[in-house]
Amino acid sequence: MNGDTCAVCGGEGRIKGAWNRTTSCPACHGSGRRGDMEPLIRDVTKTKPSHHINANEKKADKKQTWPSTSEGVALATQVRDSGCPDETKDRLIREIIEYEGSHGLCTKTFSRKVRKQIRPTT
Ligand SMILES: [Zn+2]
Repeated sequence: MNGDTCAVCGGEGRIKGAWNRTTSCPACHGSGRRGDMEPLIRDVTKTKPSHHINANEKKADKKQTWPSTSEGVALATQVRDSGCPDETKDRLIREIIEYEGSHGLCTKTFSRKVRKQIRPTT
């Protein structure tokens, strides 16, 4: 599954780094596709020529909208069922997808961080 989607950014082409700064994904250089991930090759041309486009890539808007790890799914479900505004839910779920994309899983620390945000601190 997700054979064409960059695992680091989940197809977004960008990742949220430290201090919530959004940066271009280092693995796919913003294309969101796994096929561009060639860490050993330092190509100066960041954008691929258009003749590279095939039938699969026409579905580029098929973005990942739900986590794929069990921890991520459990966490995203809690976010979805929380009383947060939809924007917050969307943001947190995206963070979960991005986190598991770059780490391969959702750690307990990360889960705790997310849960803290869905529970209003009073
Ligand atoms: Zn990427």
